[in-house]
Amino acid sequence: MARTDTMPADAEMRRQIRPVICYPDEGLPQPDLALYRSARVGARKVEEVTVPPREARSFRVPAGHFFRITSIKGPQVGDLNLWNASDLSERFFSGKTRALHGTHVSEGDRLWSCLPYLRPMATVIEDTLSWYGTDPYGGRVHDVIGTRCDPYTHRLLSGGTYHHCCHSNLTRALAVETGRPLQEVEPLVHDVLNVFMCTGFTPDTGQYFMKASPVRPGDYLEFLAEIDLLGALSACPGGDCSSEHSSDAAACHPLLVEIFEPAPGSLAGWSPAAVNAYDRSHGAG
Ligand SMILES: [Zn+2]
Repeated sequence: MARTDTMPADAEMRRQIRPVICYPDEGLPQPDLALYRSARVGARKVEEVTVPPREARSFRVPAGHFFRITSIKGPQVGDLNLWNASDLSERFFSGKTRALHGTHVSEGDRLWSCLPYLRPMATVIEDTLSWYGTDPYGGRVHDVIGTRCDPYTHRLLSGGTYHHCCHSNLTRALAVETGRPLQEVEPLVHDVLNVFMCTGFTPDTGQYFMKASPVRPGDYLEFLAEIDLLGALSACPGGDCSSEHSSDAAACHPLLVEIFEPAPGSLAGWSPAAVNAYDRSHGAG
């Protein structure tokens, strides 16, 4: 609750100051979407992975290949993690992606990696839900707000134990992929892109909300991999995230991940993203 006894005389004047965009789009290097999309036309499918409900699966995408995440059986939200395939310490940076592109991503937006790399890992080239825009509640699709459902928060709030939260699903999938113990890979699991999830903040209390995803079978989100990627996708136990997660109560459905290889020469002029050019001296002597 906001206190009123400390309100200064010029409170309203201070509130009326116009905001400025922290990171205007003009400063960001823009992807050549026309080139990516033309390369996609002649690309051929080389692999597919089905993610079962309440589970996660890993997949690899070479730089310059495409990957598509599709709803195949019913409305389902997916929690996506991405790592540099050859260095798992470089991973998707949800917070900076949000600062650069806003709370939700769509066509032309990029998924950025953590410091000290800060380069695009993947670029969204097609989003069949881009029509959704902003609903009357302020909800939008594909958020980089939420962290991922996890058994620790569930324990904190309800006292219960649940093993199929996205955090646990992603941890198991990464352990299987790398052959490393669960406890060793768990810290590599990170804040996600919430694929197909419809979320926002309440205008009065600023609370994070979710609502039934508008995704339907056949809808997909597709990316170009800007570097060699290891990905993991969890089919969230929340299903379409219309009511609750961290339980087996919601109807859950599988998700499909497909990898496509472009025809030789079709990405002429494109090269994998380089790591950030900052020299990392941090002003020290
Ligand atoms: Zn989840």
